[in-house]
Order: sequence, then C-alpha cells, then structure tokens
Amino acid sequence: MAADTIIVGSGISGLSAAIVLAQHGRRVLVLESHVVPGGCMQMFQRRGPHGGKVRFDVGVHYVGSLRPGQTMWRLFRYLGVDVPVRPLDSECFDRVSLPSGDFAVPVGWDALARNLKQACPGEGAAVDAFVARMQAVERSLTWHSLDADAPGAYDRAPHEVTVAALLEKLGVSRRLRSLLLAQSSLYGAPSARAPLAIHAAVIGSAVEGPHYVIGGGDAITSRLVARLRELGGELRTRAPVARVLVSGDRASGVELAGGEVLHAPGVILALHPRAALGLMPPDAWRSGLRARLERAPECVGLFCVYGVVKGDLGEYAGRNHYLLREDDPDCFYRPTPEGPTDAIVNFSPPADGVQTFTAMSSAAADWFAPWHGTRTARRDTGYAGLKQRLTANVMAMLDDRLPGLRGRLTVVEASTPLTIRDYVNYPGGGLYGLEPSVDSQGINGVRRRTRYHGLWVTGAGTGTPGVLGACVTGFAVAASVLGDENLIRRVRAETDPA
Ligand SMILES: Cc1cc2nc3c(=O)[nH]c(=O)nc-3n(C[C@H](O)[C@H](O)[C@H](O)COP(=O)(O)OP(=O)(O)OC[C@H]3O[C@@H](n4cnc5c(N)ncnc54)[C@H](O)[C@@H]3O)c2cc1C
Repeated sequence: MAADTIIVGSGISGLSAAIVLAQHGRRVLVLESHVVPGGCMQMFQRRGPHGGKVRFDVGVHYVGSLRPGQTMWRLFRYLGVDVPVRPLDSECFDRVSLPSGDFAVPVGWDALARNLKQACPGEGAAVDAFVARMQAVERSLTWHSLDADAPGAYDRAPHEVTVAALLEKLGVSRRLRSLLLAQSSLYGAPSARAPLAIHAAVIGSAVEGPHYVIGGGDAITSRLVARLRELGGELRTRAPVARVLVSGDRASGVELAGGEVLHAPGVILALHPRAALGLMPPDAWRSGLRARLERAPECVGLFCVYGVVKGDLGEYAGRNHYLLREDDPDCFYRPTPEGPTDAIVNFSPPADGVQTFTAMSSAAADWFAPWHGTRTARRDTGYAGLKQRLTANVMAMLDDRLPGLRGRLTVVEASTPLTIRDYVNYPGGGLYGLEPSVDSQGINGVRRRTRYHGLWVTGAGTGTPGVLGACVTGFAVAASVLGDENLIRRVRAETDPA
C-alpha cells in the first residue's frame, strides 16, 4: 500500500514521528540516505587492539530523563519500546576537571545545589536563584515537562536571554560560573549565545535522570525500527532524497537522487534544517527565515577519539569526565590545534568484555578546509597527519587528567567535522548541526510548518539537541501533522509507571 506520509531521515526525530503517526493510522515510509538507520544514533565497528571487533557509539553516550515517570522514559513507553538502560553514579555522574580543581556533578538539582554551595561558599543565594530559574524554565517547556498547561509556556525570555546574561545578573564568581557552564558541550553553544531554555532542557534532563543505554544507539534504533515495522511502517536505507515535490500549494512526494519518484501527500524532513532548505522549493519558508537560517551559526566542530581501555576503570567508572583546559568552559568554543585540549570522555558499560572510551574535543571546520571536496576513506596523508596530531593533543589531556589510565588507552579511530558531514549530512559538520543559540531559537527558531500543506520540518535543529530533544521534535511534528492538540496530555496519561 502506498505511503500517505514520507519521512526523510531515520534519526530519533524521524523514527519517533513515523511511529506516532503509524500508531494513529498513517501509512508511513521512512527514507534514509545512509546504509544504516539511526542518524547520530548509528554505531560503527573497528578491529580492536586484540584483533576482535569493537563497536563505538557516535551520538548516544548517555541520555537523561530516563528514570520511570521522567520524560524520555515516557516517550519511549508511548512509542512502545523498552530500551535497556543503566543509571550513572548518583553521587557523581559527570566529573568536571578544571585547572583549578575537580567538581562532582550529582544526580538531582537539590544535590547539585548542595555541591555547588560547598564548592563556592558565600554564593548560596546565587546558586539557589540559578537552580530555581532552571527548574522553572524546564517546567515551562511543554514537551520537555509533558505538561500541556505549563505555566510560562508562552514566555519569550527563556529563548531570548542567554546563560551568560543570567550569570552576570546574578554576579557569580569565576569559580561558580565555570562549574555551571562546564557541561555546555551537551548542547554545544557558548554561554554568550546559549538561551536559558536550551541549558535548562539539556542540563536539566541530564541532572535529573542520566542513564547509559545498554547496547548503545543500536539498542534504541533497532527497537524503534522493529516497532515501526510492527505498525506496518516501512524503512528504506540507501535512499537519499534529492528534492521535495509539490503541486500547487501542497506537498506531493519526493524525488530520490537516482531519479525515482515517490508520491505522498505528506512529507516530513527530519534532518539538519539547512539540509532541509536544500531539498524544499525555495519559497517553502518565508525569506526572513531563510536568510536567518543562512546566517545562523553551525555548532562548533567535533574531533573525537575512539579507543579501548586495558584493565579496570576503577574510580573513573560510572561517570563522564569533562576535562577542560581553562577555568572558562567557553574555551570549548575556541578550539586550538596546539597542545593538550579539552576532552569530554565517556566510558559506557563494557560490551563483550571490552571497555571502550570516546574522547570528544572541539575543532574548527576550517582546519579541514583542504579536504572539503573529498569523501571519507579517500583522503590523503596530510589529513591522516592532522588527525594524528589532534589525537595526540586529546590523549595528552587524558594522560594529564586521568593519570590512573596512563599507558592503558589504545586509540582505534578518530573522526573530524567532515565525518559528521558525510555520515549524517550536517552541511557544516557541526557537533549537533545548527548551533542552538539565540539566533536559531524562540522567535528566531526554525519553523516546522512550511507554506506547503503537508510539508513539515523536524529534527534537533528545530528544537533542542540530544536524543531527548530530537525525540521531542518528532512528537511535536506528529502532533502538528495530526492536528492533535492533546498529544502531550495523552502521552502523560497513557505512560504512568505501573
Ligand atoms: C558526537 C555526538 C555525540 C552525541 N552524544 C549524545 C549523548 O551522549 N546523548 C544525547 O542525548 N545526545 C547526544 N548527541 C546528540 C544526539 O545524538 C542528536 O541530537 C540526535 O540523535 C539527532 O537526531 P535527529 O533525528 O535530529 O537527526 P539525525 O540523527 O542527525 O538524523 C538525520 C538523518 O537524516 C538523514 N538524511 C539527511 N539528509 C538526507 C536526505 N537527503 N535523504 C535521506 N536521508 C537524509 C541522515 O543520514 C541522518 O540519518 C550526540 C551527537 C553527536 C554528533
């Protein structure tokens, strides 16, 4: 049976939109350009130092709000998937390591406020004010709080006021500022451009319910795809969409890169907004939005080192490590190709007895300019040499700040912004695609609706980065497509923990 809705992109936003629509009787077809589904949730495999195969996650190191009754947990439940998870260490799920010392980020806002007050004596009032503001903003985000009647839902300030502005108003010390900003790489915007809503949504979900996904991104993608098929939906990989077709003022289908045409009255583009722009008729969004999108900054690039740990993790287990080269965490947005560099280190639970690590650092897209016209696996020794140099910078930081693992880490692979560009089609290769800044959020935000009936855009770039944020955008676009103002209420009502 022909699909009535084509979803382009099989990341968590596309798959969740497809499942919600299929649950409501739509006939859905998901088209994915890559050879495997999942987008940023895809994993890849390499030969490890001992000859066996090792799998690495691209974009699912840990996910927040996964305790029973929390938002991510409820969204998975509504989608009908049971994803295996394991909580991170409640006393310290993220360890912040700055030149001025370490800080343990515990689970729960109250515990976090307690630790911050201990680390910054005399700043109790500022800590309380910051935490209260974050909690209020998080509650006001209807989909993140799953509260359709959330107080403050129409306030613009959370999308227009930056985190830097709030910290300045509160008059926080340099130390408190550094601790409050240390995890900003979870959303990828510097404090001077990060809106309160993004910080509250992303850091809030991490603080409230951080979990590893056992089996990594594959464990989510495989369950979502199975559920999609169970509902009669279809998924085609190796199906790059070249353009959206319209007839009059309506969407009518898509044309694949090979020329194949697929007709459907509904099309949802679940991908980077700038990639979406390239597929739609130029007038799909009004000129102001198009111009804003062309100007809106891309996230800082990612340079990521993947490897294997020999022996036990000991004190490093059960948490992520935010190793920052300066006490100002905004240094992550000023990447340097010289010397030990920032590294966000993740040690997911071992699989098949192999303990892997990923160490994410930032990178400027223009370092890789000489290879912009090339594709993965076809790059020259200059590219390999640059990767080696950047890898050494990252590993120098790990040696310095994780001394107990010195000599026990073997590097297996490294990726650059060009890798992200080529594997998930983020045109600028930014860490989360479009930077979630005041220039692309709130009143400046990317609109899901277009001027063509039946043509919609979704994905992390239309909302909040992260598995939860992108999943929320999938639900939100499905609610719009269905004209269902009650979806939030139903998700909450139908997913109460047993
Ligand atoms: C390195 C890294 C680490 C991360 N770590 C975490 C983490 O620990 N926790 C967390 O919660 N989040 C993390 N994230 C973020 C999170 O993974 C993403 O925000 C989220 O998965 C994005 O989902 P999406 O549906 O918006 O889009 P994507 O996952 O980007 O999916 C878009 C899909 O569209 C496809 N596509 C693009 N163009 C076309 C076309 N023309 N035709 C057909 N298909 C097309 C792409 O191939 C891709 O599969 C990380 C991201 C990265 C990159």
